[in-house]
Amino acid sequence: MAGLAVEKYRAQQIATWIFKHGATTFEEMTNLSKDLRQRLETKSWISKPDIKTRLQSKRGDTVKYLFVLSDGQLVESVLMRHDYGRSVCVSTQVGCRYGCRLCASGLGGLVRSLDAGEIYDQVLGIEKDIGERISSLVIMGSGEPLDNYRATLTFIKNIAAPYGLNIGYRHITISTCGLVPGIRRLAAEGLPLTLAVSLHAPNDSLRDQLVPINKKYPLSELITAGRDYVRETGRRITFEYALIAGVNDSAVHARELCGLLQDILCHVNLIPANPVVERGVKPPTKQQIELFKSILESNMLTTTVRREFGADINAACGQLRRRILPGTLKM
Ligand code: SF4
Repeated sequence: MAGLAVEKYRAQQIATWIFKHGATTFEEMTNLSKDLRQRLETKSWISKPDIKTRLQSKRGDTVKYLFVLSDGQLVESVLMRHDYGRSVCVSTQVGCRYGCRLCASGLGGLVRSLDAGEIYDQVLGIEKDIGERISSLVIMGSGEPLDNYRATLTFIKNIAAPYGLNIGYRHITISTCGLVPGIRRLAAEGLPLTLAVSLHAPNDSLRDQLVPINKKYPLSELITAGRDYVRETGRRITFEYALIAGVNDSAVHARELCGLLQDILCHVNLIPANPVVERGVKPPTKQQIELFKSILESNMLTTTVRREFGADINAACGQLRRRILPGTLKM
């Protein structure tokens, strides 16, 4: 607005139109003068969410959306209907450079990062589609949010703003595979966001295989950064742990995990792996999951087993394209 020599408060009005009401043309902004609307039209454009397809789970509690970006790239987002509200899982990149073994997003490498508007559009598009308010967010779709730091933070600040959807920072979860410098940078923002770290293994040798970035940022550095995050933000961390039968699900692993996470304010989310029969990848039995959970709980670790969301549409737990694919796990 300064560049157009327009009063500052107009910026707030325009932001409200775009970020709260999802306006996709300047014409809709009826509290701006016709002259200003025309000038804006010649200087700028507003992106709009373009839903290519949607898939609803049989239970109806999950809908997976595929959005087309302006250059034809596709990204996935997931709507999850909880008792307490509607939650959306967004993508921050097309593809991903980190190649975690349990994830399909990294298979083709990073294609490109999304800009803040493209991330925002996923939420607006879903809100408009269902005609209901979104009350929480998980930034856990394709891509590593801390590898697209600036756009992700701009998105978060806009969506949490009064001119945006006013979603409280406490209702936003940002997921990382463990980029230590990114965790430290995020902690310094002082925002009460929930940080979710994809852990999946209690020791370096196993985690090196499952989450290769561990070779660069080993567990000792990751846990120290996590501890500092808790201290600086006052928020507990969520550690995501995908349980794979015969790989990381034994009582020994559970005890090792207790040792690793002692003295850190956290919550452990156990995720039974999706089965891939031909590769011998399968989730542990119910008894094994219960045993693992009980060992953690008897060591004072708050633990949940993640509810299955839309497994029939490959959107289990809002993980979008994250699923164990045949051939991705060799051990
Ligand atoms: S889990 Fe996250 S960081 Fe790892 S490959 Fe998948 S999208 Fe990338």
